[in-house]
Amino acid sequence: MNPNKRKNPMTTTRFAPSPTGYLHVGNLRTALMNYLIARKAGGTFILRLDDTDPERSKPEYADAIREDLAWLGLEWDREARQSERLARYEAAAEQLRASGRLYECFETPTELDLKRKKQLNMGKPPVYDRAALKLTEEEKAALRNERPSHWRFRLDHERIEWEDGILGPVSIDAASVSDPVLIRGDGQFLYTLASVCDDIDHGITDVVRGSDHVTNTATQIQIIRALGGEVPRFAHHSLLTGPEGEALSKRLGTLALRDLRAQGIEPMALLSLLARLGSSDPVELRNSLEELAEGFDLSRFGAAPTKFDVEDLKPLTKRHLASLPFEAVKEDIAALGVPDEIAPAFWEAVRENIDTRKDLAAWWDLIRKGAEPAIEAEDADFIAEAMKLLPPRPWDEQTWSSWTSAVREATGRKGRALFMPLRKALTGLDHGPDMARLMPLLKVVKAEGEG
Ligand code: GLU
Repeated sequence: MNPNKRKNPMTTTRFAPSPTGYLHVGNLRTALMNYLIARKAGGTFILRLDDTDPERSKPEYADAIREDLAWLGLEWDREARQSERLARYEAAAEQLRASGRLYECFETPTELDLKRKKQLNMGKPPVYDRAALKLTEEEKAALRNERPSHWRFRLDHERIEWEDGILGPVSIDAASVSDPVLIRGDGQFLYTLASVCDDIDHGITDVVRGSDHVTNTATQIQIIRALGGEVPRFAHHSLLTGPEGEALSKRLGTLALRDLRAQGIEPMALLSLLARLGSSDPVELRNSLEELAEGFDLSRFGAAPTKFDVEDLKPLTKRHLASLPFEAVKEDIAALGVPDEIAPAFWEAVRENIDTRKDLAAWWDLIRKGAEPAIEAEDADFIAEAMKLLPPRPWDEQTWSSWTSAVREATGRKGRALFMPLRKALTGLDHGPDMARLMPLLKVVKAEGEG
């Protein structure tokens, strides 16, 4: 049996946003991949708020993250907040100090910047030179009186290797990477340490994140080992770009999940697209997250940047809506004031003629209030005659066909010349729902006055 297909309830993944802004499509891709891995395996999906930065993290962003995930149906089994685990990070730092892997540094940002520039000028990679490791106890004591200190993890200078779930075998020379800062001058624990502690303690088995984290992963693998933890399986997905290959971040403002929601994009359209975009599997509209999880295979994803076009969500949304049973839209329809007894027929009439749920309102208005007839000058007599032939109410699904037959006989018109002026007279539009379905619903036909 393909090991990919096997259920494994031990599988635990997490989505770890920082509550410093609204989620965008790039975040959703990460969230969805982790979610689908956990659900497919029958495992656990954790929402972890990376909120160690007290200045930038805001409770309203945390609420917005929960709200966006709930809108999409991405339910999490547990929530964790890094701000509640500072004691654990301190203990981990202590453990690393004791084993000689965490060392105190005193360079100011300006000094570090200067070092980097010098290295670059000399054609060297801007890797931290570990000058702080050479400080004597006396020098450190003197510096402590002068300025705050930060703490770096001392990497073992060896190759760090892992089998990446998307990138395949990855090998990074630790000597080409700066020793990562784990504690800032103001005492704040940085993500690199906090994330490792959480991944160990929460039993995270699989981490999928953006390829901007590849270097983090190399250093985190060493930190996990230094803390005696199990290294999870890592996978790094490519970053999304705009349709022309431009950085998506330029347009993040328009790609926040809440903006897509406000535009009427359907969750299943968004989820169906993002679960396949960048993989060798075609994008197929699915009806549920279960179906998406069933067909999800991380190994099908490629390393190349993935183009995302927000326009692709529109036809998917339209198709998704057209496929929905009445039950799925019942509440939206009731909210418009459509009486229960005609609500299912209303849905049948308009389901293929809406781009978003918001369009339901315009069709209901047309039915309830009637439309201003659109009558071309050369059709005026024809419409007047047709209106005289309108069958008496109540109308049913046969009415359109019997009426148009009668009009054809009386006027000799047929085909488009017959149907289009009648549609425009009744609805004011040259497109719209099947007239046979629409006619029984029409309460007001303003063009009747023309007869
Ligand atoms: N808070 C980190 C981010 O949003 C989490 C990265 C990770 O998945 O480890 O980039």
